[in-house]
Amino acid sequence: MTAMGTVYLVGAGPGAPDLLTLRAADLLRRADIVFHDALVHADTLALAEKAEKIAVGKRCGRHSTAQRFINKRLIDAAHRYAVVVRLKGGDPMLFGRAQEEIDALQEAGIEYTVVPGITAALAASATLGISLTRRGMSRNVTFITPRTGKGEDAHDWARSALAADTCAIYMGVGEAAQIAATLMDRGASPDLPVVVLENASLPEQRSVALRLSELGTTAGFGFTGPAVILLGEVYERLQPVTAALASRRTDAA
Ligand code: SAH
Repeated sequence: MTAMGTVYLVGAGPGAPDLLTLRAADLLRRADIVFHDALVHADTLALAEKAEKIAVGKRCGRHSTAQRFINKRLIDAAHRYAVVVRLKGGDPMLFGRAQEEIDALQEAGIEYTVVPGITAALAASATLGISLTRRGMSRNVTFITPRTGKGEDAHDWARSALAADTCAIYMGVGEAAQIAATLMDRGASPDLPVVVLENASLPEQRSVALRLSELGTTAGFGFTGPAVILLGEVYERLQPVTAALASRRTDAA
């Protein structure tokens, strides 16, 4: 049977519902069915008025649907519906397992389209008012996760972190102490400026600025929402004042 539908891999943005592209909003309105990540805002989902909405995970450490099962559900849905939306936090093409879904769709002969979204590190930079790049100081940015999936080979994430001028670490807050220890072990300065920002773009966003040697203490800040760890000289200027700055910006939002 040939599929009638198209699967749209859509970026929902970092959290705030109004940080969604017009294209994404239009697709949600037209969607027959939406498979969404756990982190997607209720107001964003509400745009998909006529769609059946199915949560398919992904929240660190909690239950999430197996990737192969998600792939299969997307393919099945494309045989039943015209507009199938796979809605992912941030941008689908960054730590979103989009490639696995694209490969499965291609193999099954299903049409697909990717709609980009604002990734967490960009939303965090906007909140902080600190550019990821800066003339004379930071000419590259690296997006890293130290997390490896089950059965996946270990990778040398620290090498890329050490080579980068500015580094955004995703899915790392739970192992912040280990990250700091590894980086310092490998030669990073204990004084390297670090910012941890939780719930970027949402009213409850919080941040803390510290030095790499202090990153292990972040467990004490009780971050429970999604958070990025940002490292680099560009964050030096935030060091003494970040908490106040972030709360002021939150108030203004
Ligand atoms: N595709 C997503 C990333 C998915 S991985 C994107 O482009 O943003 C999930 C990780 O993203 C979380 O562990 C956290 O590190 C980061 N993240 C997602 N939303 C965030 C937010 N609002 N604030 C801070 N970090 C966030």
